[in-house]
Amino acid sequence: MNDCIFCQIAAGIIPAAKIYEDAELIAFNDLNPQAPVHFLVIPKKHINNLMEAEHTDIHILGKLLYTAQTLAVQLGCEQKGARFVINCKDDGGQTVNHLHIHVLAGRALAWPPG
Ligand code: AMP
Ligand code: ZN
Repeated sequence: MNDCIFCQIAAGIIPAAKIYEDAELIAFNDLNPQAPVHFLVIPKKHINNLMEAEHTDIHILGKLLYTAQTLAVQLGCEQKGARFVINCKDDGGQTVNHLHIHVLAGRALAWPPG
């Protein structure tokens, strides 16, 4: 097993507050939530970031986005909305180098980001 923290969560080696899991992806609450609803959706396959996703990743990229939407609806975010964020590399503010979608909801979020 590599030392990627999200690969270790996907493998069940590190515990996480899972809200969804299937053969290809897993969703879990962010350890340091920035809104009343803040969860992450990640592929079980290690992909460093969105910039490094490949054509063969088209299926999982679509599934990540659709699962993020479905879980947001299930958590009651449909009416007021949510923010779906993919931080990418240094300037994008990525701190964990395993592709993930943040879903934030439950309060009005500022724009633009700092
Ligand atoms: P990013 O800055 O986009 O790479 O976001 C990484 C996110 O992962 C941050 O919001 C962290 O709070 C979150 N995070 C880091 N370690 C864990 C963990 N063990 N369980 C849940 N969330 C985590
Ligand atoms: Zn990984």
